Parts: sequence; structure tokens; C-alpha cells
Amino acid sequence: MDSVRVRFAPSPTGYLHVGGGRTALFNWLYARHHRGTFILRIEDTDRTRSTEEAIEQIFASLRWLGLDWDEVYRQTDRFDRHREVGEDLRNRGAAYEEGGALWFRVPREGATTVRDLLAGDVTVQHSELKDFVILRSDGTPVYNFACVVDDHDMGITHVIRGAEHLNNTPKQILLYQALGWEPPLFAHVPLILGPDRSKLSKRHGAGSVLDYDRRGILPEALVNFLARLGWSHGDQEVFSKEELVALFDLPGVNTSAAVFDDAKLLWLNHEWLRRTDPHRLADLLAERIVTLGVADRHAVEAVGRERLARAAVLLRERGKTLVEMAERARPYLPGPIPLPPEAAEVLTPAVGPALAALAERVTALGDPSPAGFEALLKGGAEDLGVPIKALAPAVRVAVTGSRVGPGLYDLLSVVGPEVVADRLRAAARWIKERR
Ligand code: GLU
Repeated sequence: MDSVRVRFAPSPTGYLHVGGGRTALFNWLYARHHRGTFILRIEDTDRTRSTEEAIEQIFASLRWLGLDWDEVYRQTDRFDRHREVGEDLRNRGAAYEEGGALWFRVPREGATTVRDLLAGDVTVQHSELKDFVILRSDGTPVYNFACVVDDHDMGITHVIRGAEHLNNTPKQILLYQALGWEPPLFAHVPLILGPDRSKLSKRHGAGSVLDYDRRGILPEALVNFLARLGWSHGDQEVFSKEELVALFDLPGVNTSAAVFDDAKLLWLNHEWLRRTDPHRLADLLAERIVTLGVADRHAVEAVGRERLARAAVLLRERGKTLVEMAERARPYLPGPIPLPPEAAEVLTPAVGPALAALAERVTALGDPSPAGFEALLKGGAEDLGVPIKALAPAVRVAVTGSRVGPGLYDLLSVVGPEVVADRLRAAARWIKERR
């Protein structure tokens, strides 16, 4: 087989959404699996609807997903070639001018069969097709025509695209035949539906690729999720990109519609947060803390990368997205913690003096490991006369402002003795002032 050449050919008329992201991924995986070439072709022939901003969004989305392209083209750069081929079709008698536009003459007799690698054989009687415009009166090419010329000229071997294009394919095959060109192989990937099996939309949680970044989804997780939207390998759910490259091929693509499930995306994201190197996670978290306004860059830098990596490991136990993690990161950042009125349930007058005394011991703590904090608290509970089951929740609320969170001793160890001591003192004062 000739070396594989595939393309992703988005029209830059809006954001790159889930369906487009999946098409891009399947083409990229197919190219990488077969050590072929992945081409990005911006189909900007519709000049009224295409925008530079959308083109930038497409590039940014693919970069964020980590789908690198080997060649890039803009269809508008190829108008001369499209006109030349249009002229050729006219000379062959396969196209004619009417109303200033150039029309393709569909044969009256016979039928065309698309031998699709996924959809199977799809036959259309020519009597069901009408002649169609290939060059508008302003000289710009229409999609079906520009697509054929470009796929041919770019040596595309496999056209992998959404099933919504299947009805264009007979027209494209007729164009190949009229030009005496060999058509590529076609693989139309089944549609993506919402969980209610209606057309996928925002209301199902599906957005643009970059919306997922804003929601705190990792690119690894979205790649994994998009791959599983219509492709499977046994009952495995979690795949790294390297595994996908090794395993992805067209026979694994399902032939029925895929169903979009936002809960599954969150589950996968959680899986990927847990698999991510803590230092990388620390960097992502630092950025998120700043962009969400949880704290400023200065505060994040004061924590340091090492400590932030440890905080990230605790935060990812419960956080399903980077946003959730960042929103809960406040306790790990320097400065006081606001105490809500409900804190009084555990920050009672009876524990106030014990917290103040504990603060002094924390300052002098020689071993700030989780075990060090555990020994300190348990010892404190004994000789300060407050049972550990009252002291531990009080310490947790004093340090985090909340009654839930990761293991207390891990948490204290990551926050560190200095900040813990400050917050214990602040909580003791808070109790006093409320009396
Ligand atoms: N520009 C078309 C689209 O965005 C491309 C279709 C194709 O891949 O041929 O839907």
C-alpha cells in the first residue's frame, strides 16, 4: 500500500467542536499509526462565513490536543487551480456555464456506489441527483468540487470524515470519474448523538474543544474521550495517546452512532488527573489558581512548586477537574482562611485554649511529616484535655475553613507548620471574639 496520506479539512466558520475534534483525532491517529502524513486543510472557500479568528481557534484547539500536522493548506490559496480544473471539465463536456456559474453535468443514466470502509456500500441512482454548481459566478469553488481537486492534488489516500458527508460522496466520485482520477478510499465515521439520542448540542455538555480546557479538562482526557466516541478496543476505557497510536485502526471504529456522555468525560478526566505527573499538575494548578482569581501569582510562587505538587496530589483525590482543584486550593496558599459561621460547630470555647497551645507546639515541631503531625495532635489531645475526635475536626476547620477534605495529617504536612500555627492562633482568637 502507498504510504497513507489523510487530511482534516475544517471549514473555519465557527469553533472546533466535539465532532470536528474527533474527526481530526481519527485522521491524526490513522496517519501516526500507519506512519503516514497528516494534512490540515483549512476549507475557507466560503468567504462570507470564514473568519481569521476561527482559523486561529482551529490551530489553537489542535495544538492543545497535541495533534501536530505535517502539511497545512488554505483552500483560498488554490483558487487558480480550481478554476483550471473547472475549465478542464468544461473542455471535456462534463461541465457547462449557466447564469455565470459553472455546473457539473450529472450523467442521466446509471448509478454510483460508494464502497465505504465503515458504512458499507451506498448506492445512489443518478436520476436522484441534479446537476450542481462547481464554480460560483464570482469564480469561487463550491465545497464538493474544491474538495475533490484538493484531495486529488494532495495525494489523499483515505478520506475519514463524519457520516454527515456521506451524501456528498457520490457527487465527489462522479467528479473523480469525469476527471479520469482515481478516488481515495472513504471512511465515514458514524454520528455523535446526545444521551437522549437527539442531535448533539451544548445542552448535552458538548462544547468547543477549548471550552473543555476552560472547564479544567486535561487534553489527555479529551483525546481519550474523543477516541472512545466511536472507536473501541475490547472493554478498555483508559488509553494514553501512545497506546491509541499503537492500537487505532479503522476496523476498531464502530458502525453505529456514538453517544456523548459528559459524566464519562469527567470520570476519564479524574483518571487522567491521577495519572499526571505531580509536577506537571502543579504547573497546571498554579496557572488555574491565578486565572480563576483564587490567589495571585505572588502567593502561588510563595508556596513553591514542590509543595504545590504535594497539594495537587491531595486535591486530585476529590477534584474531577483542574477548576475544582483550584477552587479548593485556598488552604494550601499563604494567608488567613476565612471561617464561616458554621465553623462554630467544631470551633467551640472548649477547644480554643487547646488550639492556642497546639499552635506553639506546631511552631516547635521538629518533624513536619504527616506522622509528625499525627503524633503531635494525638499527644496534644491527651495532655491538653480535648479528645482527638473534637480536636481533629477543629484543627481541620481552623486550617481549611471546611469540615471535609483529604486526610488531616497529609493536609497539615503539606500546608506546613508555619501556616498551620498562624491559622490555629487565628481560630483561637476567633473563638474568643465570638463569646
Ligand atoms: N469542510 C468540510 C467540513 O468542515 C470538510 C468535509 C470533508 O472532510 O470532506 O465539514
